[in-house]
Amino acid sequence: MTILAHTTIIDGNIKRASFETLTRCRELASAHDHNFVASIVHPDAQQFVGQVAEYGPSKIVTVEDESLENSVNEPLIQALQSILDEVDPDISVFASTEQTKEILGALGAERGSAVLPDVSAFELTDGGGVRAARPVMAAKILSNTTADKPPVLVSVRAGVYDAEPSPSDPEVQQVDFNYEQPDLVPTLKEQMGSGGEIDLSEAEVIVAAGRGAKDDDGKGKQLVEELADELGAAIGASRALTESGVYDPSLQIGQTGKVVSPQLYIAIGISGAIQHVAGMTNSKHILAINKDPDAPIFDIADFGVVGDLYEIVPELVKQLKANR
Ligand SMILES: Cc1cc2nc3c(=O)[nH]c(=O)nc-3n(C[C@H](O)[C@H](O)[C@H](O)COP(=O)(O)OP(=O)(O)OC[C@H]3O[C@@H](n4cnc5c(N)ncnc54)[C@H](O)[C@@H]3O)c2cc1C
Repeated sequence: MTILAHTTIIDGNIKRASFETLTRCRELASAHDHNFVASIVHPDAQQFVGQVAEYGPSKIVTVEDESLENSVNEPLIQALQSILDEVDPDISVFASTEQTKEILGALGAERGSAVLPDVSAFELTDGGGVRAARPVMAAKILSNTTADKPPVLVSVRAGVYDAEPSPSDPEVQQVDFNYEQPDLVPTLKEQMGSGGEIDLSEAEVIVAAGRGAKDDDGKGKQLVEELADELGAAIGASRALTESGVYDPSLQIGQTGKVVSPQLYIAIGISGAIQHVAGMTNSKHILAINKDPDAPIFDIADFGVVGDLYEIVPELVKQLKANR
């Protein structure tokens, strides 16, 4: 039986979530004595082979082609088809990204595979299928789903497994690929950035601002940014602050925003509405600063400070500066 872990590369960097899925696949393959193969699809796939080999696959298959230069779905789907034809994996595992969400259904339909998207945990069943847990209803409920038999395509949320290298000396195979341009040609017109300097979905530390940090002279926003600067953190926001134009919509975290999984999430002046929590509940540690001791954010916070953010955040920045 073969488990394939696909490596997602965005802006020339392997996504942290891919190192996590590579690790999980290696552990499962080793526990069940299965083959563990990794794949890379990129115009210059070779340059990533060394990094992927750090995670222990016995084989790495690559597709290199100019058509893969931009993040357009059609060439990627075709490239992945070539890889799946070559490797014929029983289980293929992807990092759950916006693009994976778009392509997995098409890939599953083409290959007659079961698709388990955006899962927060998965394991192999005795029959060679996959059992997975998936947060639904704004992450209030975990739905358990089983694909009884292979082939299965799975995409995994970032931050649910730890990335742990275990180097191997894999065979590397370049798979032949000829991109067949479809009649309707998708064209990439504009690529929108993540909005912040640090990619929220990859960030180790996030400082997130809510309505409590909104004021007429922008003082709350300034404090949030000072704290983020001091910690080298990415900035996120609740919908209250993206809808009111204080922050770019691309920084919104939650059900209708980004799903994040940093090591540390600092929620400043955020009440903890279910739609916000849906996007950050996977954070390893949550620190909440809120003047209302009954704010629901404290129900999920590991650390809480009850008080006025205009007093607490400057003190926090001062202490961090003093202890640099
Ligand atoms: C379909 C749908 C989808 C949604 N999707 C999202 C989403 O993706 N992301 C999202 O965030 N929201 C989303 N929402 C909105 C969500 O329901 C909440 O309205 C929103 O999250 C509230 O943002 P907030 O916590 O910043 O504001 P509030 O709920 O108004 O909370 C502000 C908090 O700041 C505290 N505070 C005020 N002043 C201070 C101070 N000086 N010091 C310390 N604390 C202070 C208050 O005690 C309060 O707890 C969605 C809603 C719907 C209906």
